[in-house]
Amino acid sequence: MTTDIRPAVSAASAGEGSSLARGSSDINAATRSEGGQGVDAVVSVRSLNVYYGSFHAVTGVDFDVPRNRITALIGPSGCGKSTVLRSINRMNDLVVGARVEGQIFYHGIDICSPRVDPVEVRRRIGMVFQKPNPFPKSIYENVAWGARINGIKGNMDELVERTLRQAALWDEVKDKLKESGLALSGGQQQRLCIARTLAINPDVILMDEPASALDPISTLKIEDLMRELVRSYTIVIVTHNMQQAARVSDQTVFFSLNERRQGVLVEASPTRDLFTKPQDQRTEDYITGRFG
Ligand code: ADP
Repeated sequence: MTTDIRPAVSAASAGEGSSLARGSSDINAATRSEGGQGVDAVVSVRSLNVYYGSFHAVTGVDFDVPRNRITALIGPSGCGKSTVLRSINRMNDLVVGARVEGQIFYHGIDICSPRVDPVEVRRRIGMVFQKPNPFPKSIYENVAWGARINGIKGNMDELVERTLRQAALWDEVKDKLKESGLALSGGQQQRLCIARTLAINPDVILMDEPASALDPISTLKIEDLMRELVRSYTIVIVTHNMQQAARVSDQTVFFSLNERRQGVLVEASPTRDLFTKPQDQRTEDYITGRFG
């Protein structure tokens, strides 16, 4: 039996508990409280462990991702930030040898369940990668593709314009929509990839070091865009740049390595608190540059 991603109300009224419909595209934003999920948490990670073959890369991770907030995952290289991020939309399913244990509740539904369709999860929880990766197609087609796979019909020109405006790219590309997305600058390509993700109509956007390949001005544009987008979406960002986490995020989750070189969550706090009054000595050592 497969599991439905469908509006929480109908799933509840159908009496199916955490039922996610394979192939359905109508998860709504209603929140059900399950698995200890807080009222405002869109995603709740519980007892997450990730293995690559016999290597136990991440152990015992718990945190909540609040709605309409930016959550930054920080910590030294190799502590499992990207691994945790990839778990949130089942991207680790695509990594050979990766195994995920634990629960990740999305609107109260455990998306780690084998009954949940990972394609549907990725439609609702989109991802933007470190290196901009537009398709070798026109700017227009890069955005329209997302809408088409989401089954959106209607006026595609309007949708492409609206989405490019949302991604703060419209003014720069409106006269060259038929040109290749690959002809844009790195920063523009990244905003095009964000537009492509938005066109799929997610409610959570995962970003894996989205600005690390960009120059400082393009980086600030991406950060401004994130602050704008978070009014409508929930964002989780991995960054190796502490200043960036401090500038853009509302909540910061700090990871470190334990004595067995496994990634562990040390502290999840409001960003201002984490950088001004960290609760853990390891956090303090990291943010003051004593290690990492
Ligand atoms: P971070 O994002 O914090 O730098 P990662 O999540 O990339 O950390 O990696 C965490 C650990 O898992 C590291 O030891 C890394 O070498 C290992 N790892 C990541 N991806 C793979 C993979 N595909 N196969 C094997 N080991 C991996």
